[in-house]
Amino acid sequence: MNCLFCNIANKQLPASIVYEDDEIIAFHDITPQAPTHIVIIPRQHIATLNDLNAQTVALAGRLLLRVPLIAKEQGVSETGYRTVINCNASGGQTVFHLHVHLLAGRLLTWPPG
Ligand code: 5GP
Ligand code: ZN
Repeated sequence: MNCLFCNIANKQLPASIVYEDDEIIAFHDITPQAPTHIVIIPRQHIATLNDLNAQTVALAGRLLLRVPLIAKEQGVSETGYRTVINCNASGGQTVFHLHVHLLAGRLLTWPPG
């Protein structure tokens, strides 16, 4: 399977990495939608949020817990930030490897587009 984010996770493709451990990696989005735009992914290939299951829910929890820690490192936890998980076509997902967007550094309006 040729997955862009798997290739970033295994270092076959370069990325501007801000955090990594044995199961999670986070890097700057190549097309930032805010002054801070980081993508946080599990190294394990999970295609969409629909594909989470009992075997991967603990990993997903650790992924989510990592978000405020990265936000703090980026200096945006007090001013605030938005997390987004796009799922499938109508949700705007373009890379089919589960990821959390961390967006900050500007006032993010609601509702989203
Ligand atoms: P999605 O639209 O699937 O929720 O988010 C995919 C994100 O991956 C987009 O924000 C897009 O800009 C980002 N992206 C696509 N290709 C690359 C790449 O090669 N490197 C990095 N760092 N981000 C990418
Ligand atoms: Zn993948």
